[in-house]
Amino acid sequence: MAVVGRKSEPSLFDNLKPPAPPERTEHGVVVREVQCRNLLNRCGIDDYSFNCYVGCGHGCGYCYARFMQRFHPHDEEWGRFVDVRINAVQALARQLRRLEPGSVFTCSACDGWQPIEARYRLTRECCRLLVAAGFQLNILTKSKLVLRDLDILTGGRVQIGVTITTPDENWAAIWEPGASTVAERIEILRQAKAAGLRTVVMFAPLLPGISDTQEALGRLFAIAAETGVERIWTDPINPRPRVWPAVQQVLRRHRPELHDRYQRVLFDAGFRCDYRRQLDARIRKAAQAAGLADRLA
Ligand code: SF4
Repeated sequence: MAVVGRKSEPSLFDNLKPPAPPERTEHGVVVREVQCRNLLNRCGIDDYSFNCYVGCGHGCGYCYARFMQRFHPHDEEWGRFVDVRINAVQALARQLRRLEPGSVFTCSACDGWQPIEARYRLTRECCRLLVAAGFQLNILTKSKLVLRDLDILTGGRVQIGVTITTPDENWAAIWEPGASTVAERIEILRQAKAAGLRTVVMFAPLLPGISDTQEALGRLFAIAAETGVERIWTDPINPRPRVWPAVQQVLRRHRPELHDRYQRVLFDAGFRCDYRRQLDARIRKAAQAAGLADRLA
């Protein structure tokens, strides 16, 4: 029960709250330095994953990692905050003393090479430790900054994957405002392959009416053919917690006429089932036209 008239005195609850980490703003993103106990986690995609940052400055409108805000509440919107796990390298080094090598999804709830990484270099140092310890890195990024680290990745058990959601630079800038351009992502694939690394591309989430058309898929698979990637993943947009309000925001501003279609694709089970079937057919057709049917995951 609240005690009226004694606001100046701290409550018991206030005394128990940890002090808020100091913060500053860089490129419109609120940055806080925090500590972590462990870095490497068990993961459903690979054996392990890690994230040196909570939050992602790329701020993609469809980002599924928004669920992180449930466990790490912030006043800022997704894309407007990054917590930097300042002791990430030390925490990882400690874990590596007792873990068996395995595959590591890099990274699972943020882009490890988002803009703040240029200054902190935590993902770089963690990758260096993991490669040296014999772990296999499966990287997925939308940032050209990963090219900075080719020196430590080359020669290791490393696969570099790039996500491309749409072949259209204007749409990419709208949906993924902090990420590298499509042209820069294509360049990642070229340089990684030239460095002798296995490369893969993820076309996801395919956006209804924007990048799921036969024409857009044709352009996406032309990119895959031109860069010589070894594997191609695709995925439709999925209903995930907290995503729909952010997607609606983008649609209302840029393509309000698509709103109802997205709603049905996401939440109408029958419609979604038909949509998946038709989309899969278009994907297969585009892959066959590019001579890449055997590389579809
Ligand atoms: S790059 Fe990935 S983690 Fe970062 S905002 Fe975009 S979808 Fe989310």
